[in-house]
Amino acid sequence: MSLQDKDRIFTNLYGFEPFSLEYAKKRGDWDKTKDLIYKGKDWIIEEMKLSGLRGRGGAGFPTGMKWSFMPKENTGKPHYLVINADESEPGTCKDREILRHDPHKLIEGALLASFAMGAHHCFIYVRGEFYDESSNLSKAIEEAREAGLLGKNAAGSGWEFDITLHRGAGAYICGEETALIESIEGKKGQPRNKPPFPAMAGLYSCPTTINNVETIAVVPTILRRGGEWFKSFGKNEKNTGTKLFCISGHVNAPCVVEESMGITMRELIDKHCGGVRGGWDNLKAVIPGGSSTPMLPKEICDHQIMDFDSLRENGSGLGTAGLIVMDKSTDVIYAIARLAHFYMHESCGQCTPCREGTGWLWRVMTRMVDGHATIEEIDMLWDVTKEIEGHTICALGDAAAWPIQGLIRHFRPEMEARILDYRKKAA
Ligand code: SF4
Repeated sequence: MSLQDKDRIFTNLYGFEPFSLEYAKKRGDWDKTKDLIYKGKDWIIEEMKLSGLRGRGGAGFPTGMKWSFMPKENTGKPHYLVINADESEPGTCKDREILRHDPHKLIEGALLASFAMGAHHCFIYVRGEFYDESSNLSKAIEEAREAGLLGKNAAGSGWEFDITLHRGAGAYICGEETALIESIEGKKGQPRNKPPFPAMAGLYSCPTTINNVETIAVVPTILRRGGEWFKSFGKNEKNTGTKLFCISGHVNAPCVVEESMGITMRELIDKHCGGVRGGWDNLKAVIPGGSSTPMLPKEICDHQIMDFDSLRENGSGLGTAGLIVMDKSTDVIYAIARLAHFYMHESCGQCTPCREGTGWLWRVMTRMVDGHATIEEIDMLWDVTKEIEGHTICALGDAAAWPIQGLIRHFRPEMEARILDYRKKAA
């Protein structure tokens, strides 16, 4: 069953009302925040665990568990919360709606999450290209400071807390959590080897938790309405809650919409996007979770449930929940070649399989587009993606490999036909 209006967390997703503190309070934000803090750190973390919330940035790691990794004892070092607002995954445009239309949800969530993890300071790393988003967020932070919601006695809770907004410079890799930390520290944005994990040695070598914008922005509502309420949405207890989906491509009305986890792909597209251009039967494939997740052909999309585990069972992933819909007019080989170029361009170059492999994938993919290749090279392409996947410092290597794997898995006959056609014309 699809989500009812009374259960939507993001009630100003489309910016119909101002983002200001005055209107945010009318929408229910900053309501008795102090009382939530008085319930204590353990209560907040337990409630988050109960909710089943999994990180909304792509990896889907359980949020409450992640928070519990932060040291409980006094290490003599400050703790930090870092919010990843570097949203750069092609097909993904949900966090920007929170930043520009509902920034107080994020600020209040930052206070509650930071308190739970013993952090007095939070950094929000905003994608460089997000000018309006940074501007609105900055104004909202200033409003919160003036209203005493941030500062020495944040929201009257006795907890000292402030936020620094840090603007990036437009590198996709800075959305990787350790590259993001390096970037805040003023260094080149390159991922770090793990371990040590950020909860032990993150920003300035201090215990740090990095969470996505949507993850933090849903925290106040979860704590107010209860973990059980959030958990009541979704097909099972590992895939819970409401979720922002962004749907682009060949649909009649592309949109960002909050829906229940576990909605079917078809209902999501038909109900909120006016359907696929030319009707459902004109669908060819969907990239379900941002550009790095393998595409799924129509036969799978017909029955696909939109949650972490259902998509993984079908060889793809929920990722950022950014759906890219492709109708039958799409040259899927070219579409994936274009993504291969993107990942080649964004590789930071530290590790050989990614630095060399992404360029190799793109060069072979460009020949696959016009068919100037051999059938054997399809197998070689597959093998090389497997050599890259899991053999790099960060997940960009996987992100470059998976779209090509999805293409070969589902559209190999189309690739072979292109090659045979090329040969016929050349003969
Ligand atoms: Fe850099 Fe790519 Fe290695 Fe990630 S996988 S660290 S982006 S070279």
